[in-house]
Amino acid sequence: MPKKDRSFTAKLAHEVRTIAHENCPVCGKDRVPVVHYASVTDDQGNWRPQRRRIKLCDCNRKQIYG
Ligand SMILES: [Zn+2]
Repeated sequence: MPKKDRSFTAKLAHEVRTIAHENCPVCGKDRVPVVHYASVTDDQGNWRPQRRRIKLCDCNRKQIYG
């Protein structure tokens, strides 16, 4: 395997670890970054999707998904 490929895999593994390492300050469990879509109404009364990047864990799962 070329050296270049190995370093790329190592970089990827490091990034995955960095994301997974983030803990919730409330429950101490791992928080999972997700993209959440919600329907919001603008000034003209039109529905449109709103995209939010959030960190999901057991604490806020009910607030977000109902
Ligand atoms: Zn939590």
